Amino acid sequence: MREISPDEIGDPAEWARQWILADREAAHVAGIVAPGAWVHSHRGAPGVIYGGGDGRELAAAGESLRAVTEHLVRHDPEDVLSRCAAELAVLEAHGSNGAVPPSCRECRDAPHPCRTVLLLVSGYRHRPGYREGWRP
Ligand SMILES: [Zn+2]
Repeated sequence: MREISPDEIGDPAEWARQWILADREAAHVAGIVAPGAWVHSHRGAPGVIYGGGDGRELAAAGESLRAVTEHLVRHDPEDVLSRCAAELAVLEAHGSNGAVPPSCRECRDAPHPCRTVLLLVSGYRHRPGYREGWRP
């Protein structure tokens, strides 16, 4: 996962937008190589899923693989692309009005980034670069 540094992007809305665009690109590519809705099936040989921050085996068979696979199919490319589009639309609607200091275009009297943006951004709080000061 490429780190998107808040030092390069001080605006939490722009920081989140970059993550969303990266997620959209990954989903787009995954949708090309594995098109259509993904379904949960136990046909064929099971794979092994690694992770946990240290590359350990998380799921290889049985209930752990079933749970991880279920999660994966619930986040298939089509689903991720739809979610990315919705989040980008929220960020666009709640963008800065360009004033000094900036206010939210949608929430009018709220400063930019508004609470709606900060709530959306908090969904990415486990990504590298999230700042605790961005918590809504
Ligand atoms: Zn707003």
